[in-house]
Amino acid sequence: MRVLLLLPTTSYRAPEFLEAAGRLRIELTVGAEERNVLTAQNPDGYLALDFDDPEHAAKTVLGFAHAHPIHAVLGVDDQTTVVAASIARQLQLPGNSPESVEASRDKRLMRERLQSGRVPIPAFRVCAVDEDPQRVGAAITYPCVLKPTKLAASQGVMRANDAAGFVEAWERLVRIVHAEKTAPEILIESFIPGREVALEGLVDHGQLRVLTLFDKPDPLDGPFFEETIYVRPSRLAEAEQRHVIDCATQAIQVLGLTTGPVHAELRINEAGVWLIEVAARPIGGHCSRALRFNLGISLEELVLRQALGLDTRAIQLDPTPSGVMMIPIPQAGTLRDVVGLDEATAVPGIEDVLLNTLRGQTLTPLPEGSTYLGFIFARASSPEHVEEALRQAHQHLRFVVEPLSEAGPRPAATTAAGSCVTS
Ligand code: ADP
Repeated sequence: MRVLLLLPTTSYRAPEFLEAAGRLRIELTVGAEERNVLTAQNPDGYLALDFDDPEHAAKTVLGFAHAHPIHAVLGVDDQTTVVAASIARQLQLPGNSPESVEASRDKRLMRERLQSGRVPIPAFRVCAVDEDPQRVGAAITYPCVLKPTKLAASQGVMRANDAAGFVEAWERLVRIVHAEKTAPEILIESFIPGREVALEGLVDHGQLRVLTLFDKPDPLDGPFFEETIYVRPSRLAEAEQRHVIDCATQAIQVLGLTTGPVHAELRINEAGVWLIEVAARPIGGHCSRALRFNLGISLEELVLRQALGLDTRAIQLDPTPSGVMMIPIPQAGTLRDVVGLDEATAVPGIEDVLLNTLRGQTLTPLPEGSTYLGFIFARASSPEHVEEALRQAHQHLRFVVEPLSEAGPRPAATTAAGSCVTS
C-alpha cells in the first residue's frame, strides 16, 4: 500500500510520519513544494506539487498514480489538508470534502458556517485591510480579538482593549498580512474570557472519537496568544468535559468533516462552551509526542492506519497523565546559546526536551512569528505533577539572545525562559 504524505518545507512532522510508515511497512511518497535532489534516486518516493494550486496538484498526482497507485493521501497542516482533500477527490479516495476542509482552514468561512449551524462562537465581523481602522474601531465593543483569516499557530492574533489599541493592533496586523502575502482581510471577534482546552480526535464515518482533552493551564488573555502548556487528562469536571465534546461534535458536523484527525480549541466560562476553532489535522509541531498509544503506536501511526482503512478501534491512549510545553520565544534576536538543557531534562517526570532552533537562527516572537523554540515533554502520576515538571524544566532553561538592533548587533543578553528579560 502507498500513502502520499504532503509535507510543507517548514514542517517539523516528517520524522514522526516516516517512522510510522516504516513500522506499518507501507510505501510512502512525500509530496512537497520543492524539487528534491534525491528525486532521481527515488522517483516514486518524492513528488513536487504546487500547494498553492490544489486542483493542479491533484492532476499531477493523478498522472503519478497511474504508475504508482496511491491508497491514501494525508496533509499535515492547514494548507496541505486542503490540498489532500482535492487530491483524494480526484483519485476517488475516501476523505473529507475539499469544501469542509477549506471551511476549517479559513477562519472567515469557519465563523460563517458555525454561525449558521448555531454553534456557540464569538460575535464577529470581517473587514478588508484597506478599511479605515479609526472608523471600524469606533463601532465595536471591547475587548476584541483581531486575526488574519488564513494564518495559523496564533500568528497575527491580537487582543485590543480600546479604540486606540485597536488601531495599533490593526496596523500591525496589516503589516503581517502583507509580509505573509496572505488573504487581505481581518477578522474581528469579541474576546471570550475563560479557560481554554484543546480536543484531539479522530472522525470516522462522521462520528467523533475523542482521543484526549488537554487543559491549557496558563491564562491566555492576550495581548498575544502564545501556546505554552498542554496537560492531559483534563481536570475539568465531567459535565464540563461533556459540554466541550458536544460543542466540538456539533462544529465538526456543521463543517461537514467526516473522516480523519481533528484538533479543536474551545473556551469555557460561566456562559458556557465556545468554539474557537476546529482544524482537520492532528495537533501541531512535535506535540503529538505527548500522546502514546498501546503497542507503541504514535498518533501519526494511528492517523495513517485510519487513512488506509485499517481497524483502529483496539488502539487506545496510554492513560498515564502527560503533557507538553511549547517553549515560547522570549524576545526577538539571534539565538546564541541555550543553557540548562541537562538540568531541565533531569527534572523528575521530564521525558525529553527538544529544541528545534539552531544557534545563529533569528528568533521572531508572536505576533509576527509563528514558531516555538522547542518542546518539553512530561509524563507523571497526575496532571498536577506533569504541569509542575514542565514548569520546573522550563525554569532551568536559559536562552542567550542577541537582540536585533538597527545600529548593528548589541551584546548578547541571557534571557531566562520563565521571564522575558531584554537588554
Ligand atoms: P490560530 O489558528 O492561528 O491558532 P485561533 O483563532 O485559534 O488562531 O486563535 C489563537 C488563540 O487565540 C486561541 O487558541 C485563543 O487562545 C485565542 N483566541 C482567538 N480568538 C479568540 C477569541 N475570540 N476570544 C478569546 N481568545 C481568542
